[in-house]
Amino acid sequence: MKRIVILGGGFGGVAAAAYLDRAFRHDTAVEIVVISDTNFMVYTPMLAEVAGGTIEPRHAVPPIRSFLKKAHFREAGVLAIDPKNRTVQLDLGNGARGQLSYDYLLIALGAVTNFAHATGAAEHCTGLKDLFDAFFIRNRALTMLERAETTNDPQLRRELLTFVVAGGGYSGVEGIAALEDLLHGALRFYPGIRPSELRLILAPHGPRLLEEIDPRLGEYVVEKFQRRTIDVRLGVGITAVTERSATLTTGEVIPSRTVIWTAGIKVNPVLHGVTLPKNKHGALTVNGYLQVTDHPTIFALGDCTAVPLPEGQGFYAPTAQNAIREGAVVGKNIARLVRNKSRLQTFTYKPIGSMASLGQRQAVAQLGGLRLSGLPAWFAWRGAYLAKLPNWSDRIRIGLDWITDLFAPVDIVQIPVDRRSRLTPSFTPSSPLAASAPGTGSGEKQPS
Ligand SMILES: Cc1cc2nc3c(=O)[nH]c(=O)nc-3n(C[C@H](O)[C@H](O)[C@H](O)COP(=O)(O)OP(=O)(O)OC[C@H]3O[C@@H](n4cnc5c(N)ncnc54)[C@H](O)[C@@H]3O)c2cc1C
Repeated sequence: MKRIVILGGGFGGVAAAAYLDRAFRHDTAVEIVVISDTNFMVYTPMLAEVAGGTIEPRHAVPPIRSFLKKAHFREAGVLAIDPKNRTVQLDLGNGARGQLSYDYLLIALGAVTNFAHATGAAEHCTGLKDLFDAFFIRNRALTMLERAETTNDPQLRRELLTFVVAGGGYSGVEGIAALEDLLHGALRFYPGIRPSELRLILAPHGPRLLEEIDPRLGEYVVEKFQRRTIDVRLGVGITAVTERSATLTTGEVIPSRTVIWTAGIKVNPVLHGVTLPKNKHGALTVNGYLQVTDHPTIFALGDCTAVPLPEGQGFYAPTAQNAIREGAVVGKNIARLVRNKSRLQTFTYKPIGSMASLGQRQAVAQLGGLRLSGLPAWFAWRGAYLAKLPNWSDRIRIGLDWITDLFAPVDIVQIPVDRRSRLTPSFTPSSPLAASAPGTGSGEKQPS
């Protein structure tokens, strides 16, 4: 029996798992196990709309199990990888630890928000990287409106009603646009707040927005935002954040209780202690077949990996588009190794294009040589992302969310959650569920 273990249930991990699931559906000599710390995959292009309340959080996160027929899914946190002994250490929740051995391993653990560039950012900012962040931002925005309604203190109102976003990439642009829609749409329920009291500031640090696409589209976004209520500070970043303020690189101190950090990602910290070849940023280094350097049975992809461009100069960008294609190639290559075939496939891919939603039925899109903006780009954005959803039920759910949003007023219900209490597996070490986890059952599970 050969066991293939996939760490991470994001775009790359799920794409590889889906390929292997099909390839070995009827092969009883191969076991596939997917490990991830949530039982859903986050459809990140929809996160800004979750933060803005246009899409229900559940609708942006398809369950990983729905992609798998043969493969086993196990909700667990990866604690460590031991390449020498071919094992992975797992946190099974409620204090239980497990160990899983593998014959072939895929590391697809992604990245986390990098708050390192500003003092206090890690303590006082939220990212826009996962479902919890998006959920938190929506609740936070509504809480600020509720608090502002109950105070006449002008300084406090200014802090509560000022929202700052750091970063001018897709997450920053889409995040602030969705936040603006939410806040202005909600104001009809808050008669004590004047629209002019709301301040939204985008500090991209760089001289442009959306640096990955045609500069003309970036300029279009700046112009649109400035005409709305979003104050874009090109070339300005954030140096420090406190509970009540953000200090800009210009020295200006902005009073604000809500600073959203989208200015950078870093490799998943789980990989810090892993003794596999990495570059200076901590990303795993791989060859063109996506095998980790000098480890032919370990593969890596996506945001935690430096995937070399075929020309040998530079690396593929950390995008879902790339991670999905990398996942399919890893799936193929592992299947070939399992079947003792020597020729592996090299990963090459040219991105189709990119798009950013700007709220208010506006977007920008660059598809090959074609540039779109405004309403046509917005239709293209929604059409493309709806089509890319994994199944019809998700498409229907999100389609209905969008239709509801066209006609219904903004929903201002707050659902307070403690964002530190990430979901953990609810089973106990002695429960039958824990014992039946492949590779974590008899003999291998080690309750701590
Ligand atoms: C707001 C936002 C919008 C984006 N929009 C786009 C877009 O429009 N187009 C595009 O191409 N890209 C977009 N991206 C980038 C894209 O989401 C990433 O490049 C992509 O998710 C990378 O895929 P991955 O498989 O490497 O990692 P991920 O998709 O991040 O998956 C990592 C997986 O590992 C799991 N995991 C992490 N740590 C552990 C652990 N210790 N134990 C167990 N499991 C763990 C996570 O839960 C997750 O399931 C966007 C990103 C963000 C944040």
